[in-house]
Amino acid sequence: MCMSKFGTLLDRVAVGDAPDISDIVALLDASGEEADALFARADEIRRACFGDGILLRAIVEFSSRCSRDCAYCGLRKAHRQIKRYRMSTAEILASTLEAAACGIKTVVLQSGEDDTLDPSWLADVVRAIKSGSDMAVTLSVGEKPQEAYALWRRAGADRYLLKIETTNPALYRQLHPDMDIDRRMECLRVLRDLGYQVGSGSIVGLPGQTLEDLAQDILFFKRYDFDMIGIGPFIAHPGTPLGSEGDGEIDAVLRVLATTRIAVKNAHMPATTAVGSLEEDHRLAALKAGANVLMPNFTPQPYRQAYEIYPHKRCLTEVSGACVPCMETMASAIGRCVNYGRGDSLKIKV
Ligand code: SF4
Repeated sequence: MCMSKFGTLLDRVAVGDAPDISDIVALLDASGEEADALFARADEIRRACFGDGILLRAIVEFSSRCSRDCAYCGLRKAHRQIKRYRMSTAEILASTLEAAACGIKTVVLQSGEDDTLDPSWLADVVRAIKSGSDMAVTLSVGEKPQEAYALWRRAGADRYLLKIETTNPALYRQLHPDMDIDRRMECLRVLRDLGYQVGSGSIVGLPGQTLEDLAQDILFFKRYDFDMIGIGPFIAHPGTPLGSEGDGEIDAVLRVLATTRIAVKNAHMPATTAVGSLEEDHRLAALKAGANVLMPNFTPQPYRQAYEIYPHKRCLTEVSGACVPCMETMASAIGRCVNYGRGDSLKIKV
């Protein structure tokens, strides 16, 4: 395609309320100077929406227990070789305070989808964080009953992450033998109705996934107008049924990230830890292709090494606070800076 035609294509996806799937697929298929133009347009839109500040979200992986069996995930219940843990309230609060001391204003409490998790206990944790700091609290603990979501929201939780991973129903079924895509969609609807800032996201490079599937994921993100969207590569974990598959390719991840930015505009989008955990760290490339968030890990040792969703995860041995100066350096390497604001959604008033 000549570059002026490609520019028209970028314009159509950027301004269209309901872009055509064939246009999205064409962007996902870009290479060479087309790919450069795709990344440049995504970067321009990121700057127009958020400026040059990179938001930090402190992640605390408070429990590795999981009752599900997602085919790609090292925490799946059938994977018996990993150590399971759940941090105590005091440990979670200590990690949160450590992040706050670094100037970070969002903590993401993440765990496997644990059927034995007591909603009241997590509500108490959220209340304790909110009463002792001005931090925004994001929860990422999977599909739960409406009453639990409502309880946590009343306790003060601000945001909720529930990635769809893939919107292809057949692929979803294949990867999630004990889950149902309609139920997941329903959870997303409930979370939005309860007033959470809601995040979703996808995995790029799943075995059997096509460009059309990835394009449908992007149209889904646009339709649901998510506040946050996380996009990362598939990384094969040897302890899972997909252990012998190849990892997702970084170029494909960057094209999905950039096309999503162009289509959805002002959702917060991280340069995910998974992007940093391929054969080399590609988070700078993600920040230059539309991402505006980094997620320093504040899970304390020895738990951090046990939270092995995928292998070769970055920053497994660093002490918690070490990530922040590292991220300052990353930001300045590309002429940007760290934004220590709360970084609430641009889509809703809080
Ligand atoms: S992706 Fe989430 S729900 Fe699925 S096995 Fe891993 S931790 Fe559990």
